[in-house]
Amino acid sequence: MQLQTKSAQSTLGRHAQLQAIPVVLKPTASRASFSQAATSVAQAPVSSSRRDRRATVVAPAAAVASAPTSPQPFNELLPGFRVVIAGAGISGLTLALALLKKGIKVQVLERDLTAIRGEGKLRGPIQIQSNALAALEAIDPQAAEEVLHQGCITGDRINGLCDGVSGDWYVKFDTFHPAADKGLPVTRVINRVTLQEILADAVERIGGPGTIQGSMHVVAYEEVKGAGGKKEVVAVMEDGQRVVGDVLVGTDGIWSKIRKQLLGETPAHYSEYTCYTGISDYVPADIDVVGYRVFLGNGQYFVSSDVGEGKMQWYAFHKEPPSGTDEPGQRKARLLKLFGHWNYNVVDLIKATPEEDVLRRDIYDRPPVFKWFDGNVALMGDSAHAMQPNLGQGGCMAIEDAFELANDLASAVSDAAAKRANVEVAGVLQHYQNMRMVRVSAIHGMAGMAAFMASTYKAYLGEGLGPLSFIEDYHIPHPGRVVGQAILKLTMPGVLAWVLGGNTHHLEGARNPQCRIGDKPRAFQESEFGLFMRDDDALWERANADWLLVAEREAPAAATAPTPRQQVLVGAGSSGRGGSATATATVEAPVAAATAVAAPRFGLAPYEYKGVYLNLADSVEGRNKVTIVGTSSDCGVVLEKGAKAAERHARIMCNGQGRFELEDMGSSAGTWVNGLRIERGATVQLHAGDVLEFGSHPAPERFTLKLQHKMYRTDVVKGDAYQRISTGAMSQTA
Ligand SMILES: Cc1cc2nc3c(=O)[nH]c(=O)nc-3n(C[C@H](O)[C@H](O)[C@H](O)COP(=O)(O)OP(=O)(O)OC[C@H]3O[C@@H](n4cnc5c(N)ncnc54)[C@H](O)[C@@H]3O)c2cc1C
Repeated sequence: MQLQTKSAQSTLGRHAQLQAIPVVLKPTASRASFSQAATSVAQAPVSSSRRDRRATVVAPAAAVASAPTSPQPFNELLPGFRVVIAGAGISGLTLALALLKKGIKVQVLERDLTAIRGEGKLRGPIQIQSNALAALEAIDPQAAEEVLHQGCITGDRINGLCDGVSGDWYVKFDTFHPAADKGLPVTRVINRVTLQEILADAVERIGGPGTIQGSMHVVAYEEVKGAGGKKEVVAVMEDGQRVVGDVLVGTDGIWSKIRKQLLGETPAHYSEYTCYTGISDYVPADIDVVGYRVFLGNGQYFVSSDVGEGKMQWYAFHKEPPSGTDEPGQRKARLLKLFGHWNYNVVDLIKATPEEDVLRRDIYDRPPVFKWFDGNVALMGDSAHAMQPNLGQGGCMAIEDAFELANDLASAVSDAAAKRANVEVAGVLQHYQNMRMVRVSAIHGMAGMAAFMASTYKAYLGEGLGPLSFIEDYHIPHPGRVVGQAILKLTMPGVLAWVLGGNTHHLEGARNPQCRIGDKPRAFQESEFGLFMRDDDALWERANADWLLVAEREAPAAATAPTPRQQVLVGAGSSGRGGSATATATVEAPVAAATAVAAPRFGLAPYEYKGVYLNLADSVEGRNKVTIVGTSSDCGVVLEKGAKAAERHARIMCNGQGRFELEDMGSSAGTWVNGLRIERGATVQLHAGDVLEFGSHPAPERFTLKLQHKMYRTDVVKGDAYQRISTGAMSQTA
């Protein structure tokens, strides 16, 4: 059943009359659909905890938004200018909010309101960087405040690029100072669903219920003449409904129908990468000092980011043709095949993710186009400039776009009202395009370059050289890596300053140029940024972590199920980021509750582990704690019977500040670090992620030096025997 304009107005009340958009509406109340979607997402594992938290925190705002509203009257100077927005993603909602704040009437048409959440689940949390947060503050301080509050701050820590295999830092980023220096909020990560909800609530807070209409699949538009010959544009729905406005903005994403009509067929560009993504209960050892990391490789790369509340989000990119599929239940297995030889920060994160939470999508972008409008129709966000996700700026650019277009339209509408003339829409859209094109194109290009660099990285000469790949074993740094690192170190500060702060002058007068009081490093002094940027060891030392030497193997099929005590460790993963005080409390949580949650989520991984905490070793020599590795049963780490190693083969010394050394105790059979044999009797410094082998290479047992957040300290890991611990627990612990 369809309602004519009059009925729609009576349904929507005074607000709709003031808007006077002659919209043909279905009788479905959008708020109801929206709430329904909210309920379904609340049950989704990805977002549930954040939603719960949000419900508590924003109760007053939510109450206002869901109460029967009597919308604020629009600016009487602006009697009839109407903007129709096709698509309620980040760009559509932000534009709607920005226009409403300026007193311009909007109607948002969304194909599928649940897709706002569906997309959120599909794509996971999103990084909203300082530039976009500042633009949002300028648009609506209240919505911005909620986003700032809900987001997990990553910009207050060290971020950057690492070698995928070794985990060693390649280039570190300081995203804090470019923001702080310009008085911008510090970068956050926020669940996409939460972000969209905040924006949608704000839109309805100002525009009233019905401002966002669901089940409105825009398939085309028509330009028509309105009263007095005024140019108007009609958005046409798949089911024939029509919505007329003065301007139509296509914010309908990369596969935009508005774009297709405006520009003709412009094929999307497959990035050559498919992307697996997941969120897991996992707290990396250095979470207090590191926000996100991109692990680089050849033909594949991996991104991991703290998203708060004890969860990490990850993306695993792999170069392959589009439209690939996986056998049911085989995504993790495939990922472990592809990334299993990478450093433990990658591997453990994959292992800690429940199979059903691993999602997959192919990554597309759009080559830049230099026409974003035609007549009274404009494109915004991904419909105009879908870019590769590597800079985390696609959504941020959409927010900046929205600020610009809303400002431009508002001034033009005011001018026109003062002159009692029609709004000069084409001029406004041309200005919007001019103002945005250079910055967006540059960031689009940088995102492409970042993607290229992330996936063509080669650590050592010989990689990818087929028959010559044996050269790789000599660990000769790849020239591309060395030159790339030098260039990045030189250029990154300037690039970051421009990406994060390059739009600031546009926001002058619209927001207070203040970095927020809470936006400062929590785990360390701001003055220590410099030290951490320079010194990798200093970062490890500051991590609230234990050092584990741990070997891992597939458990025999008949291995016993995890004990309740071990399962408690799994539960600890969801206790949130934070210090050991919280952690200890969680580890001691009631066994029954933890077991009930843990078993179905993590029970599938047949791995066994053994190892020791090196920094807790009993034996002390001078200022060092010492662990002996050998075949003798009195060693701290006992090697498998049959190993060619000596009874007392090597010593690992921990100096108390988190610096570790390995000494070969004169063994004839040899000791290997990362596949390279060290000299007999030699002492070498160890680093997190190093792989040690004793007696032969390859050895029957390979030990990895791992950092583990202190919250997971346990007595389960012992140096003499393998034990089965559920994957989640061990992924978190080791
Ligand atoms: C893996 C990945 C990670 C990313 N990470 C980040 C990040 O960290 N930070 C960042 O800023 N950006 C990131 N991005 C980019 C970001 O997701 C996009 O740039 C952003 O979502 C664009 O918003 P949009 O509103 O233009 O489009 P979309 O988010 O695609 O929204 C379009 C909306 O329009 C609706 N719609 C579609 N067609 C129609 C139609 N015909 N009629 C009506 N409605 C329609 C859709 O249902 C949807 O709600 C990432 C992208 C990917 C793929």
